[in-house]
Parts: sequence; C-alpha cells; structure tokens
Amino acid sequence: MAAQSTSLASLDKALRKARIDEYPKQSSYLLAGLIVAVALYNLASIVYNYLVISRVCQADGATSTSNAVKDEEKQGGGSRGTVTASSRVSIRRIPLALLNSARVVAYRVTVPVGLDVHLSLAEIFIPIAYVLALLIWEFVRGQLSAQYWADRAGTLAASKLVFIVALSGKNNIISLLTGISYEKLSILHRVAARTLLLLVWIHLWGRWSVGFDASDSDSLTNGWLRSGIVAGSSLSLLVVISNRKARQRAYELFVLVHNVLVFLILVCVYFHVRAFPPFVEYVWPAFIVWGLDRLLRFARVMYIYILSTRSSINPDNAQLELLSSDAVRVTVRVPSSRLLAWKPGQHAFLTIPSVSRSPLEAHPFTIASLDSDSADGRGAGAGTDSEMDMTFIVRARTGFTRRLFDYADRAHAKASAAGGAGECRVRAYVDGPYGSSSDANVFPNVILVAAHMSWISKELGQLAETRLAGLDIDIRIFVTRAAVYDEGTPTLEIEGQESEHPESAEDNKPSESEKPALPDNPLVTVFRAGRASAGLLQLLEEEIG
Ligand SMILES: Cc1cc2nc3c(=O)[nH]c(=O)nc-3n(C[C@H](O)[C@H](O)[C@H](O)COP(=O)(O)OP(=O)(O)OC[C@H]3O[C@@H](n4cnc5c(N)ncnc54)[C@H](O)[C@@H]3O)c2cc1C
Repeated sequence: MAAQSTSLASLDKALRKARIDEYPKQSSYLLAGLIVAVALYNLASIVYNYLVISRVCQADGATSTSNAVKDEEKQGGGSRGTVTASSRVSIRRIPLALLNSARVVAYRVTVPVGLDVHLSLAEIFIPIAYVLALLIWEFVRGQLSAQYWADRAGTLAASKLVFIVALSGKNNIISLLTGISYEKLSILHRVAARTLLLLVWIHLWGRWSVGFDASDSDSLTNGWLRSGIVAGSSLSLLVVISNRKARQRAYELFVLVHNVLVFLILVCVYFHVRAFPPFVEYVWPAFIVWGLDRLLRFARVMYIYILSTRSSINPDNAQLELLSSDAVRVTVRVPSSRLLAWKPGQHAFLTIPSVSRSPLEAHPFTIASLDSDSADGRGAGAGTDSEMDMTFIVRARTGFTRRLFDYADRAHAKASAAGGAGECRVRAYVDGPYGSSSDANVFPNVILVAAHMSWISKELGQLAETRLAGLDIDIRIFVTRAAVYDEGTPTLEIEGQESEHPESAEDNKPSESEKPALPDNPLVTVFRAGRASAGLLQLLEEEIG
C-alpha cells in the first residue's frame, strides 16, 4: 500500500515536472505560429499588391487617361494633364477593403477607460486573449494545490522573456516578418510585460505556499532566491513606472529607468534560473535580442555619420528654420544610401548634440519630405545624386523640442541683430527610418488633410507639377482664418512661376476680394470662407458617397 502511494506520488511529480517543461513550450509554439501566420499573410499581401493591384491601377489609369484625353479634346484642349479616377467596383479589392475596415475598427474605435484615457478595441481585446491563453496553460490539468501551478508560472514567465524583449525593439524581427510597425507592437509589449508580472506574482505566491526548498527551507542565503526576489521587485517597479501618465510626464527619465531595470531583471533572472539548467535557455536569447537592437541602431547612426564625413556634406548638416511661434523646420542633409531610403509616413529619431541633453536623447519625428528614389524619381528633398534632404516639422513642447525652438529663435534673433537673414545650422544624427507606410496604390481615392499649408507649399507645388499616369490630383485649400492667411498665405512654389505671396503682413490687410490669389493652377481650388470642417465633410461625401 505504502509502495503504491509512493509510486503514485512519484508519478504525480513526474507529470507535474513534464507539464512545467512542456506548457511553456506549447504556449511559445502558439505565439510563434501566430507570428508565422501573420508573416505569411504579410508576404501574400505584398505579392498581391504588386501583382494584382498595380495591374488594376494601371488598367484604371489607361482607361482614365483615354477618357481624360477625350474630355480635353472635347474642351478644345487644356493644360490639365491629369485624369479622373475610376469609380468602378472591383471584386478583387474586397479582401483589402475588409482588412482595412477591420483595421479601422480595431485601432480607431476607442472606449473610455478612466479619466483622459481611451483604449482602442485592439488594445482591449489582444491583452485579454493573451492573458487568458497563458492563464489556461497555467492552471489547466492542475489541482488547487500550489504544487501544481507554482513552478509552472515561473517557467511560463521565463519562456516569454525573449518575446517581450523582441516586441520592444526598434529593429525587431517580428516587425520585419509581420510588417507591423514597432509602435503598434509596443502595445503588445506592454501587455506581455504586465502578464509576465502576473505570472511572477503567481509564482511567488505559489512558492511561498509550498515552501521554497524542502532541503534548505526558504533561506534568503540562497543566491537564486535573492536574485529572483530582486528580479520580481524590479519588474513590479518597472510596470508601475511604465504607466501612460508617467511616460507622458517624464519620458526621458522613464526611458533611462526602464533600461536600467530591464538590464537588472535579465541579469537576476539569469542567476535565478541558473540553478535549474534547462530554463537558462529561456534567458540568454533575450540578452542577444536586446543587445542586437541597440547595436544595430548605433551601427546605423555611425555608418551614416561616416558616409557624411566622406562626402561634401557640411559637418553642421542640419538647417533650422522658424515656421511659426511654436514650430521649426529641421532639414537634415544626408548621404544617399539604400539604408536611409524612406517612404511617406515613416519617421526617424533625431539627436542634436547642441540641444540634446545626452548622446542617448533621441526623439522621433515624421519625415516630411520625399526621398530621391520616390515614385516620380525626384523627391521633394532631393539634393544631388549622392545627397538628399530629410525634412522634419517639429512643434515645440516643453523638453527637447522647446530647447530646439529656443535655439533656432536665438540664432535668428542674433542674425537679424547683425543685419542678416543668417542660416541656423547644427549637427544632427539621424536614426531611421522606422514605422510602416500605407500603400496608397490599393485605394482608388486618397484624401490627405494638412493644416498650415504654407509650411508645405514647396512639397504641394511639386505635387501639383507631378504628372503621373492615372493620377488625378485635386488640391483644395480652405482659408479659414484671415490672420493666419495674412501671416502665411498658402502659395504653391511652382518652378518657373512667380510666387504671389504678399511682401509683408503689414502691406496686406486687403478686403476679401483683394486677397492675393494662388498661382493659376487648375489643380487648386481655394475656398476663402467658411469652416474647413464643412468643406471637408462635403469632400468626403463626394468621394465616398
Ligand atoms: C512616431 C512618432 C512620430 C512623431 N512625429 C512628430 C512630428 O513630425 N512632429 C512633431 O512635432 N512631433 C512628432 N512626434 C512627437 C514628438 O516625438 C514628441 O512631441 C517629442 O519627442 C517631445 O519631446 P519633448 O522633450 O519636447 O517632450 P515633452 O514636452 O517632455 O513631452 C511631450 C510629449 O512627448 C512625449 N515624448 C517625449 N519624448 C519622447 C520620445 N523620445 N519619444 C516619444 N514620445 C516622447 C511625452 O510622452 C509627452 O507626452 C512624433 C512622435 C512619434 C512617436
């Protein structure tokens, strides 16, 4: 009888041990499987976009071009070399339309969850699914006794370390495979980190109930136990300080403390699991992924810097121009390199030593110019064949951006006092591009909305000159505030055409009818009165309805 109960106990122990080993692997296979599925979907979309959609667009373009030519012929010819987009409904666009609708629902529909905080549906449901899945593995086929789930929580937690670290990197393999930009993955990163904390606390609570070690009780002289406690406490602190409010209040401090704590956690977890050899394999890959991201960022910045020093680029490679009372344009001259090729909507991190407080202080800004390899072959920022301009429009807040604005302001004031216009130049390091870019080819109509037209008049002018087959460009300018209109009249800088911008705001207090006209470009319609929102609504109704 005693022998039977001993063998039952050892069978039970073997089963528990097998599940401690097995369940973390199973849950990781599920995650890997999901990543592979999204990666395959991403690959299929890329192939689909190239093979099918571009063909549809070309066909639309050809049809529209011939229609446009006929229209022009009917009107006795005209200067407008553009076309009308086809409103034909294509069944082949349905999968993409469904996907885009799902994206809109997942990321744009938000639910208020407390003061000032709104979460998108994706931010609500992805965490719930992730937590539920791990809790099922944690408690399934167990019993109420902590013997069954205490250590399982620890191994489940350790097995997800590499996943959490991978989700946080700017250069991460998950982004590369799935096409999901690192900013969106950071939502998952936070969810996974909070779930990790939950598992760590379940692990601690379970081990506390069971007793840490039958032979050595819960002696704090054990290094593995102390390192586990330090790792758990650091993780708890990290999750507390990573809340949205704290991040918004002191982002730079948050980044610094976050990095220190992450390093401490990884080292302590390593020493904690070193006593249980198979689980060390869950920890060291996290170090590699974490180090690789930082190494890649550093190597890329250095590579661009070295290319710049070998070219004719001025060591003070960035020009600062004040745009308004709280905005500054930063134009960084960079060497032409495939490594730096960017697409609309992507962003880069800027470090400007004369303004940044530390070499690690880098801030993200959207690139507001086209690179020289853009669709029309001459991007807005194109400099020479071997150099290009990366432009950023930065709004001054309270930290780095305010210091940048003040720096440019002081430099311009000094230059004006000395009687010249003067250029304000600084050295800037660029890390990027990052983030994804929407493929506008898949949409028959694209509506882009921008405020402060005068800031992008150069780019708009170049767009207006663009003559891409099958592309109908319709620029509508809503002048809503006379004061702003006087200050920065929206003109288009079109090559060979005189800008009709007023000489100065003082000369220009005209009546409505006297206000300066935009260059006579048939692509541009100016609405001088009324609210932009009303005009935009009408525009949306026309295009969608
Ligand atoms: C992908 C992306 C693209 C952006 N593009 C532009 C742009 O084109 N033009 C523009 O004016 N702003 C842009 N921003 C916002 C810009 O990065 C922040 O306003 C800027 O970093 C604030 O710096 P600060 O020290 O003046 O911040 P503070 O005044 O100290 O803080 C203002 C806000 O910025 C956030 N913030 C501060 N530092 C960072 C950082 N390093 N990374 C992310 N957020 C931070 C804080 O959470 C806070 O909510 C972009 C942000 C992101 C994430």
